[in-house]
Amino acid sequence: MAEVLDGRALAARIRQAVREEVAAFTERHGLAPCLAAILVGDDPASSLYVQNKAKAAAQVGIRSETFHLPAGTPQEEVLRLVEELNRREDVHGILPQMPLPEPLDPEVVFERLDPRKDVDGLSPDNAGRLALGRPRLVPCTPLGILALLQQTGRSLAGTHAVVVGRSNLVGKPTAHLLLAEHATVTLCHSRTRDLARHTRDADVLVAAVGRPHLVTADMVKPGAVVVDVGITRDGGRVVGDVDFDAVRDVAGWITPVPGGVGPMTVAMLLRNTLRAARIQLEGEDR
Ligand code: NAP
Repeated sequence: MAEVLDGRALAARIRQAVREEVAAFTERHGLAPCLAAILVGDDPASSLYVQNKAKAAAQVGIRSETFHLPAGTPQEEVLRLVEELNRREDVHGILPQMPLPEPLDPEVVFERLDPRKDVDGLSPDNAGRLALGRPRLVPCTPLGILALLQQTGRSLAGTHAVVVGRSNLVGKPTAHLLLAEHATVTLCHSRTRDLARHTRDADVLVAAVGRPHLVTADMVKPGAVVVDVGITRDGGRVVGDVDFDAVRDVAGWITPVPGGVGPMTVAMLLRNTLRAARIQLEGEDR
C-alpha cells in the first residue's frame, strides 16, 4: 500500500516558515510584501481561488489587494492595470488569475508583466530562465510538486520521470524542474501514442491533465511515486487524474486529491511573493 504524501501538512510547515521570514522582512523594511491579484469576470472557481489566496496571504503577514474587473473588460484595460501595478513600489507580486476569459490573451498579459513581480513564473523571462537552468521566479504548482517529491527522501537523479500534460503552467515547468534534478524526463500529451507504455516505465509519474481517473492501476509501475495534479469538479466533489484507490495498491507513494498538490500551490505562491519582494528590495536574484 502506497504511502500518502500529505500536501496539507507540508504546506502548513512551509507557510509557518514563510510567516517567520515575512515578519523579519517587514521589520527590516517597514512594509510588508504585497500581492496584487487580477480577477477578470465571475467564474466562481477563480473567485474562490483568489479569496483563498488572499486569506492565506493575510495569515502569513503578506498584504494583498484584489482587482476585480468585469467580464468583457478589453485587453488594453487589463494591460493598463498591469502597467500601473508594475510601477507601484508597494506592490511586489502580481497574479493574473488564470484562466482569463476569452478573448483576453494571457500570453500578452504575461509579456507585459514585470518579471520581478511575476509570482506565477509565466512571463517569457521567467519561463526562459527556467528552461536555461537559471531559474528566478518559478511557477507555483511545479514548485509544490517538486517539494512533495522531495518528501519521499529519494533522489530524483537517474530516475525516469514521466509528466502527462505539457501546459506552460504545469507540465513544461515541472519537466524542467525534474530535468534540473537529473531525472530522465518524458513529457506526454494528448497526441502521445500508447500513453500507458510510457507511464508503466515511470519511477516518478506526474499527471497534470484534468481528466478524472485517466491514470489507472495497470498504467503504474510498482513502487512508483505518483503525483496527481488534476482538479475536476464533479458536483460538490473534486476529482483528480489518478484512480487513487486502485493506484494506491501499486504505487510506493501517492498524493491525494484534495490535500496533495492544491495546498502546496498556495504555499509556494506565498513563498514566491516573499521572494519577489526580496528581489525588488534586497537585490536577491537567484
Ligand atoms: P491544460 O492547460 O488544459 O493542459 C492539459 C494538458 O493535458 C495538455 O498538455 C493536453 O495535451 C494534455 N492532455 C489532454 N488530454 C490528454 C490525454 N488523454 N492524454 C495525455 N495528455 C492529455 O491544463 P493545466 O493548466 O496544465 O492543468 C492540468 C490539470 O491540473 C487541471 O485539472 C487543472 O485544474 C489542474 N491544476 C491543478 C493545480 C493545483 O494546484 N492542484 C494547479 C494548476 C492546475 P495537449 O497539449 O496536446 O492539448
